[in-house]
Amino acid sequence: PYRPALREGGRLDPLAAGRPILTFEDVHKCYRVDAPVLKGLSLSIARGEFVFVTGPSGAGKSTLLRLLYAAESVDSGRILFLGREVGRLTGASIPFLRRNIGIVFQDFKLVKNWTVLENVALPLEVLGLPERLARARVGEALERVGLQGRGSELAGTLSGGEQQRVAVARAIVGEPALLLADEPTGNLDPQLAVDILGLLEDINDTGVTVVFATHDRGGEFGLGDRRKIELRQAAPAVEVGELAAHCTGEGRDGQLGLAAFAGDGVGAFAHGRGVLCYPVRWRGPFEIGA
Ligand code: ADP
Repeated sequence: PYRPALREGGRLDPLAAGRPILTFEDVHKCYRVDAPVLKGLSLSIARGEFVFVTGPSGAGKSTLLRLLYAAESVDSGRILFLGREVGRLTGASIPFLRRNIGIVFQDFKLVKNWTVLENVALPLEVLGLPERLARARVGEALERVGLQGRGSELAGTLSGGEQQRVAVARAIVGEPALLLADEPTGNLDPQLAVDILGLLEDINDTGVTVVFATHDRGGEFGLGDRRKIELRQAAPAVEVGELAAHCTGEGRDGQLGLAAFAGDGVGAFAHGRGVLCYPVRWRGPFEIGA
């Protein structure tokens, strides 16, 4: 079921349900002029998708996610979240954006000397939810991550895998439309990594869109036939055949395909039935639009 859309003045945006949840339009981002990180990224993600963002360390995965929750701003181009341009949100509406986004980090970012319950309840406190309702929601979230009954333990005393589950509970307790995971399994043993991936898949099954950034290319856990957006660092132009290998996943109507690439030699790959490809243009010196 579809979860809360971006609200304005307390009203749901009725058009939001029919639009992609996320659209990047020719997004450029660099921290240093001589080292651009995102160079004309265009893609769109449908509501309910599960997408991996892959690429080596330094390729810009975190940057991509940080742009989404307005921790960084684009240099040019636009990012639309539920149809609203993230870069144009003013101070007052950024909290509305973040209420619709849950985030899980590699290092969990829990308050270790707080209880599990206190950690998970934090986003609801920020929302000002009445305590009874909050307690029920926290209980539900802990159950969803398999930690029911563990609420009174101190977060820092749990194992790594359990701590990441607490972080996932905290990320979903506010019922976000979008869940971002930035190397969520990077600090975990392979088996625990697979468990966390499964957990995020379960959450995705309830209708939450998941964007999962990982340097893993299918070694640690099979990325399966999930859609992958590959960021490449300082790589030469992507060849058509190569592109086919790392752009997989189900095409859906209305998504942006390779139309954005028309003219760069990759367009031929664009449409079968439905569009499969949302590659990132990480293309060295002859970047289109650069
Ligand atoms: P990834 O998540 O794929 O490892 P990042 O998005 O963290 O990549 O980083 C992409 C590039 O941008 C790296 O070269 C990194 O050093 C640089 N970078 C990231 N954040 C900053 C920042 N705040 N200031 C300067 N450079 C940064």
